[in-house]
Amino acid sequence: MTTDNPIVNTPTPTSLKPAAAVEEEPTVMLGSPMAIVDGVSFSSGDNWTNWANSLSATPERLFYPNTLEDLQVIIREATENKKKVRCVGNGHSWSGTAITQDYMVSINNMNRIEKPVKGKDDEEWTVTIEMGVEVKELDEYLRKHDPPLALASNVMPTDIRYGGILTMGCHGAGLDSKTVSDTLTEITIVNAYGELHIYSEADDAEAFNIACINLGLLGIIYTATLKLVPMSQYRLRAIDSYEPLANYFEGPGAGLKLKEMVLKNDSTEILYWPHDKFLQTERNPHFWLKQWRRTLDPVEDLDKLKNQPPAVDHPAFAAFKVGEIVKEIPDAVHFDVTEDGEGTGEAKLFDASAGFKLAPDFSNFVECFNDLVEKNHAFSTSEFPSRIATCLEVRFIRASSKMMSFVHDAEEPEAIYCMINILGGRETPGFVEYSQGVLSGWIDKYNAKPHWAKLWEQIPGVIPALRREYKDRLAVLNRVRKTQDPFDMFVNDTWRLLLEERED
Ligand SMILES: Cc1cc2nc3c(=O)[nH]c(=O)nc-3n(C[C@H](O)[C@H](O)[C@H](O)COP(=O)(O)OP(=O)(O)OC[C@H]3O[C@@H](n4cnc5c(N)ncnc54)[C@H](O)[C@@H]3O)c2cc1C
Repeated sequence: MTTDNPIVNTPTPTSLKPAAAVEEEPTVMLGSPMAIVDGVSFSSGDNWTNWANSLSATPERLFYPNTLEDLQVIIREATENKKKVRCVGNGHSWSGTAITQDYMVSINNMNRIEKPVKGKDDEEWTVTIEMGVEVKELDEYLRKHDPPLALASNVMPTDIRYGGILTMGCHGAGLDSKTVSDTLTEITIVNAYGELHIYSEADDAEAFNIACINLGLLGIIYTATLKLVPMSQYRLRAIDSYEPLANYFEGPGAGLKLKEMVLKNDSTEILYWPHDKFLQTERNPHFWLKQWRRTLDPVEDLDKLKNQPPAVDHPAFAAFKVGEIVKEIPDAVHFDVTEDGEGTGEAKLFDASAGFKLAPDFSNFVECFNDLVEKNHAFSTSEFPSRIATCLEVRFIRASSKMMSFVHDAEEPEAIYCMINILGGRETPGFVEYSQGVLSGWIDKYNAKPHWAKLWEQIPGVIPALRREYKDRLAVLNRVRKTQDPFDMFVNDTWRLLLEERED
């Protein structure tokens, strides 16, 4: 086989060890027979759907690589056959970012974890992982390490892979933890020439910054090195309460009261569902407040609150119990919504999310949230009860240093941002139009930026708005990208219009 772009054969680091075996959750409907090219298996014409069953694709080839060399074979094949390449993890994204009709690359078999490395002092640890590692795999591996380690903050579910988390700039609720990409010290990516490019702050700060949240546009991410905390440093006291809205969202000092609470906590999360009683239309005057505070107290029995009667009659939140419990970091970060402890369960949701910078007195957030509560009640109550399955969710995180983050802030690097999610059952009629209309209003009023992995492509006028707001950052992205992918091999329809180099 010949190619214009010679593949640089970079050896696979031998220190990478397979993660503990876990059951795979296929997002792919396998039907057609497997073929093999140079040891890399692929299927042709299979139908792929995302987790929410809202997107599908029938890629010409769906590859299942195991090694770095396999990734290089795929790039060579794509070069020879002039094909686009996009990776896919567990398909938990609502935007079309993973989709191509050419070559899709399932990174799920690439789940090796390297032995964590201690830095200059005892508190500094890092771990290098392949991108198919799931959150739960790394949690379990680090928990068993001597000493036990953890990521300080992370996405809520445990069945998401790091390739998806880092590519899209995903985040947890940890205020100071920013996004997961902000914890990276190194990232390696196979580019459109088949070369493994190693990015670090010391080598090239600008390229490293872009690589940390690269939207899948620099190539196939092979490994990433993440900062960790020793679990002995602190545990988290998870405090749950069902609060009157009036306690935090009414009166002249409302925003400052919220701010005081957020600053006191390691993490804060707000959940709100529109109706006071299930299957009744009266507006809910309460919201669910989750706070996490650092503590040195010993961990408690995880079932401590389990036998309490449900605090709310909403079936989706039956597992929520009022009270306090001290947990290890990963147990606190990935809380269960369902009674059976199955995390996000089988319910398929839509999620539209955007973030904006908070005013010093949080007044813009209070205004926005109160307005959203009204809008969401009106939406959920019209066409009752077919639209009852909606929920609002909010987290507060400091600005990301990564340019392509939706919470990046070059002027005020420690500014606090809110990330507001509008969630709806997938069968909710009119949800996409409703949520995208609301986000459009936030872009205009609060200069909000949508979460890349969630619903944003249907926001009216979104491409011109994002091109305007990310203008200089897109120029940097394009500059770095052109050195790695001058052929636009990794550009699909989700990103094409954003990246076009033209004057608007
Ligand atoms: C129930 C649920 C809860 C969620 N909670 C949170 C949350 O708490 N916080 C948050 O920020 N987000 C959250 N999300 C969004 C989720 O974290 C993102 O959609 C994430 O990208 C999904 O990871 P995945 O493994 O499913 O990746 P996929 O959705 O399969 O892929 C996402 C993107 O990553 C790219 N990609 C994956 N691996 C590679 C690689 N090796 N190289 C290059 N590109 C790659 C894909 O091409 C695609 O563009 C949630 C989603 C769901 C469904």
